[in-house]
Amino acid sequence: MSKKAFLTKEKAEEIAAQIPTPFHVYDEKGIRENAKAVKEAFSWNKGFKEYFAVKATPNPYLIKILNEYGCGTDCSSMAELMLSQAIGITGEDIMFSSNDTPAEEFRYADELGAIINLDDFTHIEFLEKTIGHIPETISCRFNPGGVYQISNGIMDNPGDAKYGMTRDQIVEAYKILAQKGAKNFGIHAFLVSNTVTNDYYPALAKTLFELVVEIQKETGCHFKFINLSGGVGIPYEPTQTANDIYAIGEGVHKVYDEILVPAGMGDVAIYTEMGRFMMGPYGALVTRAIHEKHTYKEYVGVDACATNLMRPAMYGSYHHITVLGKEDAPCDKLYDVTGSLCENNDKFAIDRKLPEIEKGDLLFIHDTGAHGYAMGYNYNGRLKSAEVLLHEDGSFDMIRRAETPKDYFATFDCFDILKDMNYNVPKN
Ligand SMILES: *Cc1c(COP(=O)(O)O)cnc(C)c1O
Repeated sequence: MSKKAFLTKEKAEEIAAQIPTPFHVYDEKGIRENAKAVKEAFSWNKGFKEYFAVKATPNPYLIKILNEYGCGTDCSSMAELMLSQAIGITGEDIMFSSNDTPAEEFRYADELGAIINLDDFTHIEFLEKTIGHIPETISCRFNPGGVYQISNGIMDNPGDAKYGMTRDQIVEAYKILAQKGAKNFGIHAFLVSNTVTNDYYPALAKTLFELVVEIQKETGCHFKFINLSGGVGIPYEPTQTANDIYAIGEGVHKVYDEILVPAGMGDVAIYTEMGRFMMGPYGALVTRAIHEKHTYKEYVGVDACATNLMRPAMYGSYHHITVLGKEDAPCDKLYDVTGSLCENNDKFAIDRKLPEIEKGDLLFIHDTGAHGYAMGYNYNGRLKSAEVLLHEDGSFDMIRRAETPKDYFATFDCFDILKDMNYNVPKN
């Protein structure tokens, strides 16, 4: 399978004339079609709700689009709660799935009426002390331990993960929460990340459904929802096949009918907290080639760096690259595509076969719509880029401006040392 850019060279140049590269660009049409498909795929479940994982793409304009399709927000920090509140997503439309949570964040989540998802057994007492009560609706995060493997070999290692409660702890947690006045219960688990298979959610659903039926018998607790969390992946590599959200929805439906319905639990809502699947393919980093270097290898230097997209440097992740305007040219050159950080891992591609790149070419780095802009950092004094929304009719809007030196130095503003600072970037 080939991967196609959602932007032509002409459109990219048109944007770059107004908003200098590098920038992240988002495809509104793709976001909308996918959000609609997710909603349809789970429409068999009356209470279904997707809580978009804000950390993946914390841009209010993009989250508002998802909200039109019924999506809430999954938050795990003060700033994410504030963002959600600012765009009018409050109450039970917020899932507060945090861990190692500071008291003030529990307090604010409770003020907003968010559903609180407890990461640990000890957080029951901490929460009660902090907010003075236990909410009527409450969720607990489960960690089955060991190694979690799906039939096709995809696996992860929950036993090594810091999240969630053991089976014994979670049963005890529900009993205590019920004694303290909770009435509606939820369960949450996130066991494998970026699963490019239609089997993950159905397998996880089976694990959680069976567990919930047992817990319901043991404790008498009424389960309102089962939260399958995130982890539904996208095909970063052109050889991978994209997940089919309709097949995933039907897979969950099947185990729901097999396990929950016969147990008299056919009223349980299915929640999800997808980030990557909702946004990943619909964002890209557009960057310009500014240097070429021939030493022991062939290098193309671009004007973006790990500040704009950290996944390759941090995880060695593959991100497909299209050289705009050279979509049909043969990929007969071998390049390392590098950013400017004084870090040898600041490379968007290593030994990648690409068409011959000339200085000035625009590179479209695919699949940066989730965990892309958001993960950036300011190492080396590098500044974060703008974000642009491409509308269906080809028009576009800047939905976040690029950082300026003033933003970088803003945290010194209460000190005298930089009082004579000139924030204007020298022009050549
Ligand atoms: C990161 C995260 C998500 C989203 O994960 P994706 O891989 O982007 O789907 C959902 N829930 C929680 C609690 C998370 O930490």
